[in-house]
Amino acid sequence: MKLAIQGGPPVRASFLSYGQQWIEEDDIEAVVETLKSPYLTQGPKIYEFETRVAEYVGANYAVAFSNGTAALHAACFAAGIEEGDEVITTPLTFVASANCVLYRGAKPVFADIDAATYNIDPKGIEKLITPKTKAIIPVDFTGQPVDLDAIRKIAEKHQLVVIEDAAHALGATYKGRKVGTFSDMTMFSFHPVKHITTGEGGIIVTDSEDYAKKLRLFRTHGIIKDNISEDQGPWYYEMVSLGFNYRLTDMQASLGLSQLQKLDDFITQRMKWAERYNGAFKAMPELVTPFQLAETDSSWHLYVIRLNLHLLKVSRKEIFEALHAENIGVQVHYIPVYYQPYYKKLGYEKGLCPIAEETYDAILSLPLFPKMTLEDVESVIEGVKKVVSFYKK
Ligand SMILES: *Cc1c(COP(=O)(O)O)cnc(C)c1O
Repeated sequence: MKLAIQGGPPVRASFLSYGQQWIEEDDIEAVVETLKSPYLTQGPKIYEFETRVAEYVGANYAVAFSNGTAALHAACFAAGIEEGDEVITTPLTFVASANCVLYRGAKPVFADIDAATYNIDPKGIEKLITPKTKAIIPVDFTGQPVDLDAIRKIAEKHQLVVIEDAAHALGATYKGRKVGTFSDMTMFSFHPVKHITTGEGGIIVTDSEDYAKKLRLFRTHGIIKDNISEDQGPWYYEMVSLGFNYRLTDMQASLGLSQLQKLDDFITQRMKWAERYNGAFKAMPELVTPFQLAETDSSWHLYVIRLNLHLLKVSRKEIFEALHAENIGVQVHYIPVYYQPYYKKLGYEKGLCPIAEETYDAILSLPLFPKMTLEDVESVIEGVKKVVSFYKK
């Protein structure tokens, strides 16, 4: 059949994006309730949201932030990362995972990924550790947890802090336990494409009271009101470190609370669509479907296929464009962070992480979100089969 990019009819009439939120009437009502309450920000909803998220993952503390990037920034502060320090992370991630290190004046060091899971390869981490290394920021890419036991072992041996970027992995499990209790601090994001949304928003969960205190301090300008000399008046506060205004609002927290009740259903739906994709594509040699590590349950933020380019006549770019013409909104996650011009200026060069670079050239994220219908999923399958069979050698 003629491809849409050559003027043929597309497999579907409307454009399907790769990810999107699911907001219902009860979510809207929850926000409206807060709008009618005395507190739009710094009220009771934030605390309630933090408590619920901590309970959900099984952590002692949760501190909410205006977005996931701010949360990572705060975690780097709490971990004591400073100028001159090095922090090891993966290149196959959103820029925020490494930028948070730069915000502290420290240096991100990129360790290559595992060719099967696309997650940071623990074997590569140890070689990069120097006396300056302070922390590791592993990313649970697509929602599949990294090898958390292996990372933990390396961190303990070298006394490093683990800040897990679990923006993709809310609700994922590793060896039967939810992501959020394995690392010193774990970040989740509530951007609309993630599992649940607050518009913008993020959170750090931790079992450490000390980290929780530092995170709260950083969120509110570095200002404290407790433990101040009794001679001072009740208005008095002290700014003891350079913090930011990184607060989430109560309006957002109330949306988060409403969304949180639906999280398990959202994940179940994502799994169901992922399994449907797996079944449809497993007999196609031109594609590699996502590898699933034993003892982990992905929360399926992304469904990433890898093209076997040696079996195709064109590159990923042509496949991407042909699928968009079919109204299938595929995406690429991610451009290796150090390819960015800003990182190049800092001296990072191509060739640093060959597996990540090779992977980047061949991957595509298919649409995956709970609000997709069976017809949407079938149209993606039809579009992928149509385009790939047209371009196969
Ligand atoms: C979304 C995301 C972030 C940042 O989250 P925001 O809430 O958008 O700031 C960080 N890391 C990864 C891997 C992400 O996908």
